[in-house]
Amino acid sequence: MTQIYDRVALVGLGLIASSMFWAIKRGGLVGEVSGYARSPETRRKAREIGLCDRVCETVTEAVKDADLVILCVPVGVMGAVAAEIAPALKAGATVSDVGSVKADVIAQVGHELPSNVHFVPAHPLAGTEHSGPESGFAELFDNRWTLIVPVEGSDPAAISKLRQLWEGMGANVDEMDAEHHDLVLAVTSHAPHLIAYTMVGVADDLRRVTDSEVIKYSAAGFRDFTRIAASDPTMWRDVFLSNKDATLEILGRFTEELFALQKAIRDGDGDHLHSYFTRTRAIRRGIIEAGQDTAAANFGRGGAAPK
Ligand code: NAP
Repeated sequence: MTQIYDRVALVGLGLIASSMFWAIKRGGLVGEVSGYARSPETRRKAREIGLCDRVCETVTEAVKDADLVILCVPVGVMGAVAAEIAPALKAGATVSDVGSVKADVIAQVGHELPSNVHFVPAHPLAGTEHSGPESGFAELFDNRWTLIVPVEGSDPAAISKLRQLWEGMGANVDEMDAEHHDLVLAVTSHAPHLIAYTMVGVADDLRRVTDSEVIKYSAAGFRDFTRIAASDPTMWRDVFLSNKDATLEILGRFTEELFALQKAIRDGDGDHLHSYFTRTRAIRRGIIEAGQDTAAANFGRGGAAPK
């Protein structure tokens, strides 16, 4: 693989940045990767595990010579971090991000950057419920989608180079506009997370009534919810606050469907339930056929999944 950038700076050293670093190293895609995280503890840990070629004590030091700077911090602080790095950026550099919400991040970051840098937002559709510098791994983006969300006036050459980097890290790359991105992600990621948080919260309330039965007899459906509901609280608070409109739109539709299913159960309308579940089963098949998940039972964890 040929080297795509001489110098890349990763700002924020959590799950996504650390996975990017290991994927960049695997592919030999960048000459030198510098990194910065807010807390001394994260910077110490990064040095200890060899995360980044150079871990810097200040964010300006990390970004000043970089050809590409990637903001890998929670979406709620993207604007503040962009303002901090703006005076130190090299002329002609590209600034990108990995935030899970795009319209709000573009609004926050866009006006903080000087006119002599290129801004090319992006979002890798890959993650786990773990966070922090030790949670990353080189394979995270393999065969997963990364969406590049160009802003008005984004330089085609800067977009094309960023695309090459993501492809080099194993991702499939598509372009999408910000509003569409935020609606699609509200359906595929944001609303499901909120539903998982709610379901686990309900079970936790119930646990107080039934003692430890919810944990002891934890079945596959509930365990899958708990995995999602273990995701980073800061990240997800920021996602909901910054993708408010699209999330509320999808939750409105979700509530209507839930009421319709509730009524079908109350009315004993088995035909409605059966045809609804047949339709949703086909969606799972489509995801497997698209190579985005395993067909193995219980996600290939081995053993039978309790129902
Ligand atoms: P993470 O593991 O929690 O790491 C976040 C990093 O941001 C940490 O290094 C943290 O530094 C740093 N940070 C937090 N607040 C900061 C501030 N005010 N100034 C400077 N640095 C700050 O998070 P992540 O999962 O990698 O997520 C990073 C971004 O990727 C988010 O925008 C998220 O929406 C997006 N994303 C996440 C996923 C996912 O599944 N996790 C998937 C796709 C995209 P300290 O360690 O020093 O606190």
